[in-house]
Amino acid sequence: MQLVHTPAELRAALGSERPTQTAETLGLVPTMGHLHDGHAHLIRRARAENDRVVLSLFVNPLQFGPAEDFDAYPRDLPGDAAFAERAGVDVLFAPATDQMYPPGFATRVNVAGVSEGYDGASRPGHFAGVATVVLKLLNLVQPARAYFGEKDWQQLMVVRRMVRDLDLPLEIVGVPTVRSALPGEEGLALSSRNSYFTPPQRARAAVLARALGSAQQRYAAGERRPGELLAAARAVLASEPELQLDYLGLVDGDMRDIKQLDNGGVSTPHRSDTHLLDTARLLVAARLFGVRLIDNLPLTVPGPVPAAVNHAENVQ
Ligand code: AMP
Repeated sequence: MQLVHTPAELRAALGSERPTQTAETLGLVPTMGHLHDGHAHLIRRARAENDRVVLSLFVNPLQFGPAEDFDAYPRDLPGDAAFAERAGVDVLFAPATDQMYPPGFATRVNVAGVSEGYDGASRPGHFAGVATVVLKLLNLVQPARAYFGEKDWQQLMVVRRMVRDLDLPLEIVGVPTVRSALPGEEGLALSSRNSYFTPPQRARAAVLARALGSAQQRYAAGERRPGELLAAARAVLASEPELQLDYLGLVDGDMRDIKQLDNGGVSTPHRSDTHLLDTARLLVAARLFGVRLIDNLPLTVPGPVPAAVNHAENVQ
């Protein structure tokens, strides 16, 4: 594995006159480091689908607000380099801030619409920072595919929109969220920010996933009113006294709030409803023990719904 720190070193590592006609494909996995098993899944997928894997490790100041945790964000380059090497990364790109944003840097990429609600509303400028760094990384690496976690659902929607809008010649691959299976904290979405928590706090943070799961179960049991589905999630969130809710929502593939799923749950879905159900997503953000967490789940559970869920909800 090569570890490189500057765009020039990166270009050298990748071969400066890499002809686009060669069969070699690159997979890019952008991260902010403090790598965990969620990142490992992205790397694994990239390895399976490309000849070489480039992992970028950059805590991007543009996507942090002035009151956010840019300075405190966990950083561990030696640990991350060892992790990346074990995971099979070919090139680790870990630039310093001034390599990415030299003096005079003035450009922001603004993706309207999908960037505006939810985290876009709570974190002004966040998605412009994300889109700017992702576009830079895509231009530097020129991958055939780039890998993003569903964990950051709105980010995935923003990146997909940018790539479509700007005709960028690559595929964006979304990878399902990896969750903890540790006793007590089952379901907690893996996140670098979980390292701010003690183990008992992590167990309590799993309430986000449980809350979204309860809305999913209500849907599977026949409830079709978005307000009722969200109320089910809100009731679970209310069981955690330390939690301060930022948002809870049900959105379509363009990050618009879903007001109606079908005609009160009695009709067969129309074709457009079928599409809506493919993309409908439950989203939550909350602050717990001073840490801001996000999570999301599809409204419809892929594959068969566990029998116990169907039975318990249908008999009432
Ligand atoms: P981050 O380092 O937190 O910016 O994350 C880098 C990439 O890994 C993003 O595309 C994230 O969505 C993805 N990611 C983070 N946590 C997870 C997880 N638990 N499961 C799957 N992907 C994740």
